[in-house]
Amino acid sequence: MVSPFDDHDPTFERVSPVRRATTRCVPARALQRPGWITAIDVAAVVCFAALLGLGMLRLVRLADDATDLIVAAAIAPVAYLAADLASGLVHWFCDTFFCETSPLIGRLLIQPFREHHRDPLALTRHGFFELNGNNCLALIPMLALWSWQQGNLSGAPSVACEAFVVWFSFAVFATNQLHKWAHAHAVREPVRWLQQRGLVLSPEHHSVHHRAPHGRAYCVASGWMNPLVDRLGLFPWLESVARGIGITRQDAPPIATRAAA
Ligand SMILES: [Zn+2]
Ligand SMILES: [Zn+2]
Repeated sequence: MVSPFDDHDPTFERVSPVRRATTRCVPARALQRPGWITAIDVAAVVCFAALLGLGMLRLVRLADDATDLIVAAAIAPVAYLAADLASGLVHWFCDTFFCETSPLIGRLLIQPFREHHRDPLALTRHGFFELNGNNCLALIPMLALWSWQQGNLSGAPSVACEAFVVWFSFAVFATNQLHKWAHAHAVREPVRWLQQRGLVLSPEHHSVHHRAPHGRAYCVASGWMNPLVDRLGLFPWLESVARGIGITRQDAPPIATRAAA
């Protein structure tokens, strides 16, 4: 299959892992992804799995009749839409503000997004923890707060609220995998089936984001929110708000260069 991402800059020096590492890429990669970042990725995935497991247990305990199950199922598409929007907001923010050398956030959060525009296929070579660690890290405060609240609230939360938190967390967790599949040269038939029907992010839909002016289609779970968000001009408006309070763009040079090309 011909990928819409095959036209990326071939002169770019790949710095992400390759199946047969070369002496050229390993030192750069070790600089970008030192051991402490890998340790944070692993810890984040483990903590996220534990907190999501707690949420699922609470949901199973709460949903004790058929109506509850229908409510829990009906919440899933709403949570999936919300996760798509959340993916767009985080993606836009990390593509636009701060830089890879910003303290802490630069290595953990900004670098993967900037690398993705220099080398869109790097994502397809990331291992499980590198791929999912930053999403898990972002979800942990929300899940921890939600779990803490459940222990301190009088009365049980509604099935709808608990289901939303569980589905939303799972969908956000899946976002990087869905994005990775949109860039992969080959995916398994069920995944391609889902992509062709627009149920998950498709390569064709996502390729818009990787074409100049690089300012559209930021949502990368299903991409369902992109037409609405782009038509409303949500991200340009948010950027103007940020400018108004003194926060200016620091997007990666390759984006600016390629946008101008
Ligand atoms: Zn991007
Ligand atoms: Zn992409």
